[in-house]
Amino acid sequence: MLLSAAHPIWTLERAQVLAALLSREQGLSEQEAQQRLAEVGPNSLPSVPPRPVGERLGEHLLHPMALLLWIAGGLALLSGSGQLMLAIWSVVLINGSFSFWQEFRAERTMAALLKVLPQQVQVWRDGELHQRPADTLVPGDWVELSAGDQVAADCRLIEAQGLSLDLALLSGESLPQARHAGALNQPQLPPGERANLVLAGTTVASGSGTAVVYASGDDTEFAHVARLSARTRRSPSTLELQVAQIVQTISTIALALGVLIFVLSHQLVGLGTQESLIFAIGIIVANVPEGLLPTVTLALAINVQRMARRQVLVRRLSAVETLGSVSVICSDKTGTLTSGQMALQTLWLPQEEPTCCDEPRRRDLLRWMCLCSNARAKHEASAREPRRGLGDSTETALLRAAMAAGLSPDAEQQRHPRLTELPFDSHRRRMSVLVRSDTAALLICKGAPAEVLERCTALITAEGNVALDDEWRATLHHQADALAGRGLRVLALAIGTPTPTEAEAGGGALEQGLSFVGLAGLHDPPRAEVPAAIAACRSAGIKVTMVTGDSGLTAQAIARQIGLLEAGGHDPVRVIAGKDLERLSAAQLRQLLKFRSRLVFARMSPEQKLRLVEAYRSLGEVVAVTGDGVNDAPALRAADVGIAMGRSGTDVARLAADIVLLDDNFASIVEAVRHGRAVVANIGRFLTYVIASNVAEMAPFVAMVALQIPPALSVLQILAVDLGTDLLPALGLGAEPAEAALMRRPPRRRGDPLLSRAVLIRAYLVLGLAEATMAMAGYGIFWWRHGWDLAALQQLAARLIEHSASPAAMGLVQQSSTLTFVVIVAGQMGTLLACRSSTAPFWQRLPVPNGLLLAGLASEPLMAAALVLIPALAGLFGMQPLPADALGWLALAPLAVLLADTLHKRAGAVLRPAGRRVPA
Ligand code: ADP
Ligand code: MG
Repeated sequence: MLLSAAHPIWTLERAQVLAALLSREQGLSEQEAQQRLAEVGPNSLPSVPPRPVGERLGEHLLHPMALLLWIAGGLALLSGSGQLMLAIWSVVLINGSFSFWQEFRAERTMAALLKVLPQQVQVWRDGELHQRPADTLVPGDWVELSAGDQVAADCRLIEAQGLSLDLALLSGESLPQARHAGALNQPQLPPGERANLVLAGTTVASGSGTAVVYASGDDTEFAHVARLSARTRRSPSTLELQVAQIVQTISTIALALGVLIFVLSHQLVGLGTQESLIFAIGIIVANVPEGLLPTVTLALAINVQRMARRQVLVRRLSAVETLGSVSVICSDKTGTLTSGQMALQTLWLPQEEPTCCDEPRRRDLLRWMCLCSNARAKHEASAREPRRGLGDSTETALLRAAMAAGLSPDAEQQRHPRLTELPFDSHRRRMSVLVRSDTAALLICKGAPAEVLERCTALITAEGNVALDDEWRATLHHQADALAGRGLRVLALAIGTPTPTEAEAGGGALEQGLSFVGLAGLHDPPRAEVPAAIAACRSAGIKVTMVTGDSGLTAQAIARQIGLLEAGGHDPVRVIAGKDLERLSAAQLRQLLKFRSRLVFARMSPEQKLRLVEAYRSLGEVVAVTGDGVNDAPALRAADVGIAMGRSGTDVARLAADIVLLDDNFASIVEAVRHGRAVVANIGRFLTYVIASNVAEMAPFVAMVALQIPPALSVLQILAVDLGTDLLPALGLGAEPAEAALMRRPPRRRGDPLLSRAVLIRAYLVLGLAEATMAMAGYGIFWWRHGWDLAALQQLAARLIEHSASPAAMGLVQQSSTLTFVVIVAGQMGTLLACRSSTAPFWQRLPVPNGLLLAGLASEPLMAAALVLIPALAGLFGMQPLPADALGWLALAPLAVLLADTLHKRAGAVLRPAGRRVPA
């Protein structure tokens, strides 16, 4: 390109800019753009280099739990058991690689999902405005910018209306900086003062403009900065921290128990140092939850995918779990609770008497509405191109109505070129344009009725202009309220004819002394799924608060339709306008938020929304907030879970959010909460399952020490359960779909431990104990049937220590431990089915729709059979085939576990009513 250091782009005039970039008015042709794209490459940032595989794999092999196992393996070697060492070490390796692979897969899925939502830009090609993915931009392209857009390439402004930029991402500057289109005649300017440039990575804070791209992709300033900045480390989520905490606690307990067993078996039982050491290792290995970390990543990754299928895009993995504890959802109304598919339902014009001939006035009203909007008739969102605001839905509806009335918005806009725009924002709740009319400049102002009426001094009736007296004012307000009371979104329109000097001066003074023209009532029906979703929130103990810029009456009507407020209920406190909120002290607001579970906030500004979020958070609530506008970013960031709209939202909101709703639908939020809860529930299930077998694995050693009998299980057999038969079923639990009962419980409170007392009691004292009892009883019965009593067993134990037991006795010892092993495995099958729900009896959750879990269930008997029946494996793990009559006991084991679990659940259901209830 023809840019030089002596004449940097900010010093050039409009024509020179175009010449330098080989562009022309209204941009490039499609063909030129394609050619340039082939030359300069796509407009995308170099991706952050991933962390080296070695480093990441290392993390999975060196966390505290893995270290403990490494040490246990080392000790096994010291005690002379090379086999045991190999077994333990390979476990660490297999486990570490599996976790690593899961994490890698989860990240790849997330990266792929993010690509589902490419940044879109409005770019001119062949003289027409198109919406294109940002990575197809090339130097010379003309782009249109409006508030909330992220700038996709480095551009020079050609036209700007009240444009200001948010540079936070690029330079850390926190206040928006004004930008204009004029040339600057200083070649030496610090970057911050190049006031006609808009750079990639910044966002448009307000206003709108047209700009020409001069640098894309790697050539942008942003790419430069990104290359310089070091790669950021992923910070661990609360879930990961909690899991790490659990691992640490359990590992410490395991270590302590190991030491205890060592001392006891050495001193009390009289085992040699080596044997005692092996038992100690067994205890440690038995208690360490090896599969926990891979299961957590798996549960997160699976649910991220499930949510994607439900149109929910997760930008931060840990948001999945935070969603599970959400206790308040502050939701936008327009487009989220309602369909956003607005349609003009009624126009209202002031008149003394209903007359038949006000058709021309209606046309005028529609024409002015068209002139005072930025939506483009041609670029109406279609089914093929559903994403992204191709114009605001309110304005699109007005345009459509005008076209239906036979007007051509395009022709009108051409006939009345726009001179200035005072843009809409959620504070002003109005927008004005100054257009050239036949005679002079015409100001058109549309917006919320109260805002517009405040600026009117006259009104246009069928009889002509009349002064706006108090009586008329009251009538107009009354009329607007009547429309709003029907749930319609109401816009008022007024016009003014500024004098040439006023027009020249521009600014807010233009919006004065206007003449009221009429009202438009837009129908935006609630989404069909929303009432059910609201009801689901209610039974899940989640408060729903509607936050809208619309009027209180509109909001109230919609709130009734979706079941947020009782139909016909008269409870004015539940609908609060922004200006009433201003009058509440912090303490009053907290009172209100604490005791009202369903609230509607109307006429809210983004700052007030932020205040609301902060107040909820100060009450200890976990808050999810939706947002779409430029000014919603602070509230989205302040929330525990920020949710942006994928279709109607701005880039700014999406960048600030943790989650993006591709379909903008409130019901999807509730669905996402369900998945979040499922993740936490699945981790609880997994822990319960693993702890249960740990208890059963420890029982033989406790019995050995207490009764001085031979151990009922060998250390290698413990490993065979923990790292063999238990692994796949545990992963299956990580993939369990959400239970219906999940959404009938109140949310987890912030900081509630994953290993709650209820989980611990159930795992150790119900499932674990039942399994251990069955295993030890099977062991006892085995010896009893062979005619051995306790004294004989104690003698055998002594002989085992002296290595003087007969081969026949040794065979019985191996058979008995094989029996213990298979009983534990069978018991785990029962535990697996029991773990699928923490409240419902297992049969209510049959059949099993989860493939991974079914595979896990089937793997248990298959693996156990392989270990016992394949001679090589049986030799390695010290197994002996069992007598046929042992099978009966095997079949009883899972049933006993399920019986214990069902009785426990029953007892819980009887005793629980005093517990936490979902507030009405
Ligand atoms: P929300 O998105 O929460 O429904 P908005 O802040 O978009 O609320 O709108 C608030 C009010 O501003 C609306 O009730 C309407 O009267 C007015 N309004 C909305 N969009 C426009 C627009 N494009 N031009 C003028 N006024 C508008
Ligand atoms: Mg809006």
